[in-house]
Amino acid sequence: MSNGTHYEVLARKYRPQSFSELAGQEHVSRTLQNAIDSGRVAHAFLFTGARGVGKTSTARIMAKTLNCERGVTHEPCNVCQQCIEITKGTSTDVFEIDGASNNGVDDVRDLRDNIKYLPSHSRYRIIIIDEVHMLSTNAFNALLKTLEEPPEHVKFIFATTEPHKLPVTILSRCQRFDFKRVTLPKIIARLREIAEKESVTITDASLALIARKGDGSMRDSLTAFDQVLAFCGDTVSDDDVGTLLGTIDRRLLGDISAAVFSGDTQSVLAGIKQVDLVGYNMRQFCQELIEHFRNLLVIHSVKKPEEILELTAAELEDLQKRSLHVTALDIQRRLTLLIKAESEMAYASFPRLIVEMALLKATIMAPLVPIQELIDKIKTLETAAVHTPALPWETARTAPAQPLYSAEPQRTSPARPSQPAAVVAAAAPKPAGGHTDWGRFVAFVNEKEPLLGSVLEHGSPLKQENGLIEIGFPAGSYYLTAAQDAEFIADVQKMACAFGGGDTVIRVKSIETGFADAPLSLAEKKKSDDEQHLEELKQEVANHPVVKEAQRVFGGTITDVREF
Ligand SMILES: [Zn+2]
Repeated sequence: MSNGTHYEVLARKYRPQSFSELAGQEHVSRTLQNAIDSGRVAHAFLFTGARGVGKTSTARIMAKTLNCERGVTHEPCNVCQQCIEITKGTSTDVFEIDGASNNGVDDVRDLRDNIKYLPSHSRYRIIIIDEVHMLSTNAFNALLKTLEEPPEHVKFIFATTEPHKLPVTILSRCQRFDFKRVTLPKIIARLREIAEKESVTITDASLALIARKGDGSMRDSLTAFDQVLAFCGDTVSDDDVGTLLGTIDRRLLGDISAAVFSGDTQSVLAGIKQVDLVGYNMRQFCQELIEHFRNLLVIHSVKKPEEILELTAAELEDLQKRSLHVTALDIQRRLTLLIKAESEMAYASFPRLIVEMALLKATIMAPLVPIQELIDKIKTLETAAVHTPALPWETARTAPAQPLYSAEPQRTSPARPSQPAAVVAAAAPKPAGGHTDWGRFVAFVNEKEPLLGSVLEHGSPLKQENGLIEIGFPAGSYYLTAAQDAEFIADVQKMACAFGGGDTVIRVKSIETGFADAPLSLAEKKKSDDEQHLEELKQEVANHPVVKEAQRVFGGTITDVREF
């Protein structure tokens, strides 16, 4: 690869020497070659475009084509003296000027003096000014005079990354060519060619990482390749490339997005941790995730995503597989979250937290059903709902008030005339000791002395005989302590008397836990009734045809039943 003492950087070593070698700028090559073939070569050209896309290389190829000793054809021969000198940068008729360092009016005056003379050995004197937008205003004015009346033997080629900074007077006198960013597959193909020439073993995935690092610039991609080769030598491992270039393995992005869609919060957070561990910039990570989701969305939305996305065939295939199980809407909603998070990260002290929050939100997001699908489902449901019994809550609470505590069956829903009665049978209550008056007595006490009543509600009527009421309270309970108070007993006695029982002995007993024979207290009874009622309601709802149909149509389970 290297001769050990001198390493020529790849961008220089593999600089394109003919139009056919110029990757990614075919539109420029074709137009220039057509102009040469038809003998209509302009006096001044302006090459615009991002750095490293081939502007100065094209300028040199153009210069060689115009001055080649073998005649003006649409490719330089690259073997004649003129071609070789231009390649080496030693031609006396081709002036390459860096606009950034020779930007004064004196430099341009020198240039003007210089071009007065005829070319010494070739057809044209060719002036190439790189970064031409850096020239001073006076320098532009001086240049303009030459451009207005250019000598026949002079050609100008200007290159710039910022054409908007050029005066209109200059722009209007140039034939302009806009160079494109070089597409990923073209950069990869070029890197593969070079890898083969250099006898380097490297995977396509690694070449893609290197190419992506260049962001459309062939030169930057080659510089990244230099960096990788300097570290790895002739055999390049994927891991080394990722570490060296500070890029995330795209499989990790894929895994994180898969975890997001499958609702796997554990893997999402583990993925972020992994990214953080290698010291990767969180905002950049977020940007790459955004690109990943955007790629998925494009794949979902167009027929030929390969024409729009900068992806290798393998990457495209992988993403296509991943996109099968998600809808465009699902991707879009997550993309929105990430874009918002990314903008928040610019000023955040905790960028990792912002990514985590956004991804967790994206992970627990329920899948959205397209609105038309929902409407269709509701229509199906409406059809099914015709002529079916009313839901329980439409009838249950319209039942007449029941006695507070009676042995009669309760919660009997009144039947609709035309429909079968939705009767909910009361389960057999625990023995109430035959004291059906207890409920009425407690209600009486509640009305007169609410505090007293609230304690009695928790007591079980163990006995109610002539002149004796025996009330049991759970052992160790607050209510037992309250009820054992002499004053309490005396008050209950007064109440019993007032209720119409004459002189009554009140006896308070402790009920051991699990004492099954004790009748339920009113409080227990109410709780038990409520639970039973809810259970019955759940059963009834679950068995209702409309609910069954809704479950069939929408899927899902009944998690809660509420009366209203
Ligand atoms: Zn030649």
